[in-house]
Amino acid sequence: VTTAAPCRHLVLVLGDQLNGNSAAFDDFDVEQDAVLMVEAREEATHVWSHRARTALFLAAMRHFAQRLVAEGKRVVYRKLDESQDATLTAGWRAAATDLRPQRIVCVEPGDWRVWQSLNTFTTAVRLPLDLRPDRHFLCSRDAFAQWAGESATLRMEFFYRHMRRQHAVLMDGDQPVGGRWNFDEVNRRGFGKAGPGFVPEPPRFEPDPITRDILRLVEREFQGHPGAIDNFNWPVTREQALVALACFVSDRLPAFGPFQDAMWAGTPFGWHSLLSAALNLKLLDPREVVAATEAAYRAGRVPLPAAEGFIRQVLGWREYVRGIYWREMPGYLERNALDAQAPLPAFYWDGDTEMSCLRDAIGQTLRLGYAHHIQRLMVTGLFALLLGVDPRRLHEWYLAVYVDAVEWVELPNTIGMSQYADGGLMASKPYVASGRYLQRMSNCCAGCRYDPARSTGASACPFTTLYWDFLRRHAATLRRNPRMVMQMKNLDRLDADAQAAIAAQAEALRRRHATASELRRG
Ligand code: FAD
Ligand code: SF4
Repeated sequence: VTTAAPCRHLVLVLGDQLNGNSAAFDDFDVEQDAVLMVEAREEATHVWSHRARTALFLAAMRHFAQRLVAEGKRVVYRKLDESQDATLTAGWRAAATDLRPQRIVCVEPGDWRVWQSLNTFTTAVRLPLDLRPDRHFLCSRDAFAQWAGESATLRMEFFYRHMRRQHAVLMDGDQPVGGRWNFDEVNRRGFGKAGPGFVPEPPRFEPDPITRDILRLVEREFQGHPGAIDNFNWPVTREQALVALACFVSDRLPAFGPFQDAMWAGTPFGWHSLLSAALNLKLLDPREVVAATEAAYRAGRVPLPAAEGFIRQVLGWREYVRGIYWREMPGYLERNALDAQAPLPAFYWDGDTEMSCLRDAIGQTLRLGYAHHIQRLMVTGLFALLLGVDPRRLHEWYLAVYVDAVEWVELPNTIGMSQYADGGLMASKPYVASGRYLQRMSNCCAGCRYDPARSTGASACPFTTLYWDFLRRHAATLRRNPRMVMQMKNLDRLDADAQAAIAAQAEALRRRHATASELRRG
């Protein structure tokens, strides 16, 4: 809808604020106020966005605008192919000039960059900004800051227990249900030699005419961007997201617990929920996700370790990383505690590598815009950490390639959890392992030309070579960490010749990847 009649409040709705219960609408007057939604090109290009990610945002935005119109709200919607707004600020300014509002209303943006743009815009147009808290989250930015205090290390486990108590989730009085907070011990199994067996398929949401329009637009406007969209079937409305939640709880949650860390070639989703994108777009409320999980446990349909393991992700990790992001930005983006400077290997953009674990994880990422947590942390993240990739470049990749990628959740996971670039604020030690870990947790090594047990020679697994080299290169730092004692003892068992051979092989690997990435840039 485009109309130039003036309005009282101009309510900005961002692409990841598709929440009908948002504080932005609290005092919305259908007679005087208008909603503004802008599709800006920069949102798909500030990182080289996967086409499915761009399509999901745009399709969900258009469906949400349609819902607001059906509720009787006046919506000014600036389509990418019609308005050609290069940036959000440009779109907002053009609309503000037309609509001459008295005030701008917006819920606090999720990302620092967009918050800066919002401030630039309201200053330029000299309008008051009514910035409202994002009540999608269970823990506000202030509440997190209060919990964290001045502490230099912030452990998720303590935050999670605090959230369980505060929101009375899986509690019997003041004690955790089952007498334990944590079921990680039983929740970290591989699939074993027999493999995953039957895994129920997640539901598919076939594109309707609105989404098909978007898919054509993305094909046209973002040619050359990475990723496939021919198999696009993500939920784009709240109704679809609720179906996705219900299917997960009934079909896959019961086995989510033991297999949440397991990987298997050709099983891209495992028992995972695939709910992150719907949550991050705010089509789902985390409270309803947590409540549905707890209800399934209490009804005897889901074992406690599965329910606890899943609630830990949503009530714990998701709220915790948002708290870290807003506490630490903008400096967090620059953190590089291990002084890692290598370029991102070229194969991260096409999956063209002989390492079958990486080929599989990156291949499915480009095909689907999805990889589950352990693929992100212990395959693509681990390799980059061991190789010494500049965390900023890796961050740009993670922010580009997943349909659920938004900076407030992606950045702490990359900088803090995966790359240890914050020096231990989030993680008590770097998540490092050799190829043997991947051999235990997946079947990828069976079909690989490398041998996870070997660290030198032509068949040496690059993960294994780089793992020992990582311990060697960062020995001074790692020896100060009590949680690294065993790993450092194992390093000390390697004699000087063995360590020198590993160092030489690792250096050759680093040179090879740097050259390939130079060639790609050239
Ligand atoms: P499930 O395994 O089913 O988990 C359930 C839900 O818990 C997820 O939907 C998600 O909302 C939440 N969750 C789980 N783990 C985390 C976590 N570590 N941090 C925050 N929330 C979590 N998640 C994103 O939503 N967006 C990102 O851009 C993103 N980037 C990541 C980058 C790296 C390097 C790593 C290691 C992790 C990243 N994650 C990100 C976290 C996690 O990998 C994804 O949330 C998860 O894989 C999404 O798939 P799922 O919905 O099937 O998750
Ligand atoms: Fe990956 Fe090494 Fe296993 Fe090959 S041998 S799949 S590179 S861990």
